[in-house]
Amino acid sequence: MPTCNKCGAKWSYRKTLIKMMFTFGTVKKCPYCNKRQHINAATRKRTGKVSSFVVIPLLSLPAFLNLSLKIIIIGSLIISLLFFMLLPFIIELSNQEESDW
Ligand SMILES: [Zn+2]
Repeated sequence: MPTCNKCGAKWSYRKTLIKMMFTFGTVKKCPYCNKRQHINAATRKRTGKVSSFVVIPLLSLPAFLNLSLKIIIIGSLIISLLFFMLLPFIIELSNQEESDW
């Protein structure tokens, strides 16, 4: 679970999920001290890798298995939801915007 670098508070699962759902971009305000926190570069890299592991098989599998569009759409929704539910466990915060390079 992410920990605020300003006040040291550990964000709860529910609060992190709400932050991810209702705020866009990599800047998230700490629910405890209200200071700005950034999703760090390591997290962005990790989520990028995980999503490519998910998206590539999802796009290539249906061609092999001859799945219907309905199954592909439902499957994508379930996988996206699972991925979203796991986000609070992989997110790390930093005080400043970190570059990806
Ligand atoms: Zn805080």
